[in-house]
Amino acid sequence: MDRSKRQDPEIIIVGGGPVGLGLAIELGQRGIHSVVVERYANPQPIPKGQNLTQRTMEHFHFWGAERELRAARTIPREYGIGGMTAYGTLLGRYHHDWLQRELVRPFYFTDNERLPQYATEAMLRRRAGELPAIEAMYGWSAEAVCQDHDGVRVVIAGRDGDRRRTLRASYVVGCDGGRSLVRKQAGITQTHSDHDRLMVLLVFRSKGLHRLLERFPGKSFYNVLHPDLKGYWKFFGRVDLGTTWFFHAPVPPGTTKENIDFRRYLHAAAGAEFDVEFEHVGFWELRVAIADAYRSGRIFIAGDAAHSHPPYGGYGINTGLEDTANLGWKLAATLQGWAGEKLLDTYGAERRPVFESTARDFIEKAINNDRDFLEAFSPERDRETFEREWKERQSGAHSEVNTFEPNYEGSSIVWGPPGSRCSAAGSHRFATRAGHHLAPQPLSSRRNIFEELGGDFTLLAFDQDDVVVSEFERAARVLRIPLKLVRDSRAAGRERYEAALILVRPDQFVAWASDHAALNAMEILRRVIGAD
Ligand SMILES: Cc1cc2nc3c(=O)[nH]c(=O)nc-3n(C[C@H](O)[C@H](O)[C@H](O)COP(=O)(O)OP(=O)(O)OC[C@H]3O[C@@H](n4cnc5c(N)ncnc54)[C@H](O)[C@@H]3O)c2cc1C
Repeated sequence: MDRSKRQDPEIIIVGGGPVGLGLAIELGQRGIHSVVVERYANPQPIPKGQNLTQRTMEHFHFWGAERELRAARTIPREYGIGGMTAYGTLLGRYHHDWLQRELVRPFYFTDNERLPQYATEAMLRRRAGELPAIEAMYGWSAEAVCQDHDGVRVVIAGRDGDRRRTLRASYVVGCDGGRSLVRKQAGITQTHSDHDRLMVLLVFRSKGLHRLLERFPGKSFYNVLHPDLKGYWKFFGRVDLGTTWFFHAPVPPGTTKENIDFRRYLHAAAGAEFDVEFEHVGFWELRVAIADAYRSGRIFIAGDAAHSHPPYGGYGINTGLEDTANLGWKLAATLQGWAGEKLLDTYGAERRPVFESTARDFIEKAINNDRDFLEAFSPERDRETFEREWKERQSGAHSEVNTFEPNYEGSSIVWGPPGSRCSAAGSHRFATRAGHHLAPQPLSSRRNIFEELGGDFTLLAFDQDDVVVSEFERAARVLRIPLKLVRDSRAAGRERYEAALILVRPDQFVAWASDHAALNAMEILRRVIGAD
């Protein structure tokens, strides 16, 4: 057995869903020893979060798992994974493209992807199994979590209930989903915005539906707007090509598996009859919830444990995985001794406002916009105006993808503009801006900058003399910050980035950028690790 596994772990991760496993890998690659406690022996066969953004695929690239994840895709590459919005019924007369993620492809290093969440989890389990610093305890549930000045304790029980153990570590991270035991036991409260809707989730097999949808080639997910639903959607998604589907939509309160004919409900939503063989029928409450803090002392929460919302726009799994990229390097920096409490506090300070903005500016805004549109326009009442406005909507449908650009401009550890805030709303640009994701660029070596970034801070220096560069290297040595230096003299890269010196964080966000080193390197580096 690996030596590190005989000692207490540094971190206990409760929950081995996508977020818990992603965090374990993020930490494990930095040599931080964690134990993942997951209730289920195997991933649960419900497709759930399928849309993986380009940014999420960058995480898989850095986790050494991108190729394997793409190989597990269930929809052939040549078919396409686009989205579509329809009016009235799925097969009705009016429809337009939706969530065209390819619009922002140039600003990320990798393509987006789509596969069922259980396939993503299975791949993450395999990757976690390759890293010696990760100990996975599948089939164990956390029952109690407590902390004191020196560390945390988590009581866990085997699935059969007759085995119990107490684990000790420096920190615990609750990645245990929307009903998080860790969040509750840490005394972290939540703020809800209740949409008061009962939703059904159906997973079913149908070859007939595939034949009906052949008229919309390249589409893999479809939302149907109907005036009766007041902006909430009937949502169809492919799980594979041609056979398996999932569907979610509001149903009347009190609906059970027995008291509604779901086959007829599906036919009405599609506007046609087709064969249906159900694999799963489940229900969930549509609401937005955010934890009032992401940290209580040595206890952190991430993913759905920290925030949950309706799966409108596919933000859930993607937001959770970004939490892991943000928290992972900060926990590692603290355990490795080159940062401390203040850096850990920036996890919630950066990620909470991004989720608030995602919920407010994207998810709830989409529901409200759709409701307003459906109330104002109808082909039955005034076809000409409806058709004009529908066309208008189609052009506006791009703005959601273009403006979803989570950033930490207002963070205390980046050198952003004064008075700015952290938000999910922004714009995509090649110019480097402190607090924003770094856009990829080829270097004069022809390698992309993303192939040079490692797990540490990186200083990109274009056409800089040795004095400036060595000042950063010396400051990093004094502060014990692992810093990689990438020098290039190619004017093109510098012009597009509009900066000659760029300090990139371990999560590929820009911490500081300038055309000249006006401040001293020590001052710059102290701030980006919260040492001010
Ligand atoms: C019906 C549905 C459809 C969805 N569709 C989409 C979509 O299209 N796009 C999208 O991005 N997102 C979607 N989501 C959301 C997405 O699935 C979640 O955001 C994602 O699963 C969050 O990952 P997580 O790891 O934080 O939580 P989870 O996936 O909930 O994982 C939590 C893990 O913790 C384990 N656990 C819980 N308590 C304990 C305990 N006490 N001890 C040990 N283990 C424990 C659970 O077994 C589970 O494996 C959907 C969700 C649902 C319900």
